[in-house]
Amino acid sequence: MGKSIEPLRGVHDVLPAQAAAWQHLERVTREVFAAYGYEEFRVPIIEQTQLFKRSIGDFTDIVEKEMFSFIDQGDDHITLRPEATAGIVRAVISNGLLRENRLRVWCMGPMFRRERPQAGRYRQFHQIDAEAFGFPGPDIDAEMILLSARLLRRLGLTRLKLLLNSLGTPAARSVYREALTAYFSGHEAALDEDSKRRLTGNPLRILDSKNPEMRRIVAGAPLLLDYLDAESKAHFESLCDHLRSAGIEYHVEPHLVRGLDYYTRTVFEWTTDALGSQATVCAGGRYDGLVEQLGGASTPGIGWAMGQERIVMLLEKQGLAAVRDQPQVYLVLVGANTEVHGFKLAERLRDAWPDLKLQVNLGGGGFKSQFRRADKSGAQFALVLGDDEMARGVVALKDMRREVAQEECAFDQITERLGMLLGLKGGIAE
Ligand code: ATP
Ligand code: MG
Repeated sequence: MGKSIEPLRGVHDVLPAQAAAWQHLERVTREVFAAYGYEEFRVPIIEQTQLFKRSIGDFTDIVEKEMFSFIDQGDDHITLRPEATAGIVRAVISNGLLRENRLRVWCMGPMFRRERPQAGRYRQFHQIDAEAFGFPGPDIDAEMILLSARLLRRLGLTRLKLLLNSLGTPAARSVYREALTAYFSGHEAALDEDSKRRLTGNPLRILDSKNPEMRRIVAGAPLLLDYLDAESKAHFESLCDHLRSAGIEYHVEPHLVRGLDYYTRTVFEWTTDALGSQATVCAGGRYDGLVEQLGGASTPGIGWAMGQERIVMLLEKQGLAAVRDQPQVYLVLVGANTEVHGFKLAERLRDAWPDLKLQVNLGGGGFKSQFRRADKSGAQFALVLGDDEMARGVVALKDMRREVAQEECAFDQITERLGMLLGLKGGIAE
């Protein structure tokens, strides 16, 4: 036997037993975006490394140490996308979509970050992502948050808290940055390595530190909200009004900054106390300078990203994960000619009932072992075709879950009978 190959560190498989929860999340996501008039956007998983360096920022965890980057055979510098926003902005520019001025889109798929693996933190993970372009006012900020709130609510999730802050304009931030540098310089001896490095590179990032020691120092730092320009302040207050009138509870968190550099004004996070230290399930904000920074015409933008693994963990924890998809009918085939006829019968049933979930026994076996498989499949009914049934032009129908007498059905009546028993719709008359 050859030596088995291990998966890469920090990646995970979605096993068939877990697929229902993922599909449920994805289905609800599609419905909620449709309800707000957002269109799906599919962008590549690989992009030029430069794209992420220029958008996410040099002094961020992602660009400093988390990107999966490589040089391919043609000397292209390529990175597996660590997030979706940069790629969507690139795509919006390179496809000329901003000529139509405004755009509300969403995207879903795998992201890649080489971070330390732990529960709720993977090297390949998945995000649901929303982005909007061309809306300068706080109405879109409110809509984006309402949309995320509806999605979480539709999934039945509770124990979630919305944190809100404003980072102001880059000009206001640079004044704040000086105040922050002065404050943290006064505590330099107590700063950890990351924070020391950020002190000169990007002191705002110290506010985002997960280190409890740093959190204590951060608690005394000056507040960005005290440095906001008048327009950003008005924008923030209007957003808060919108949320209040929509009945969305929020908490202003003056030290909330996001781990990426491109944000301006509104930033927000949905956090939970149900997942230990990986508490953020959704995070986003406004990025009014990013489109221009990446070579497009100056266009305001805003977006958020939701971690699908963490949502699925919450669904499982709160007993909300959808039940595993099981066949409704298992077709038992015993005897020389039954296989050919059985396949035909199965295809005929699937033609008639597009929603029917039917599993056919493969690989032969006696009645006993085939019924064992039927039971294990979770099917409610077993359809049985043996030599005897074949000779008489009937199929036996056995309810696997209830104590009722087995019945027999003529070949030309089984479609209708099954449709009735299972309440199937959309059938075509035979
Ligand atoms: P964190 O502070 O947890 O590292 P972040 O600021 O890096 O988060 P974002 O880039 O804002 O995260 O990503 C949005 C969401 O995607 C996170 O809130 C989280 O739910 C999810 N996410 C981010 N990184 C990972 C990961 N490595 N594994 C699983 N989910 C992740
Ligand atoms: Mg991170």
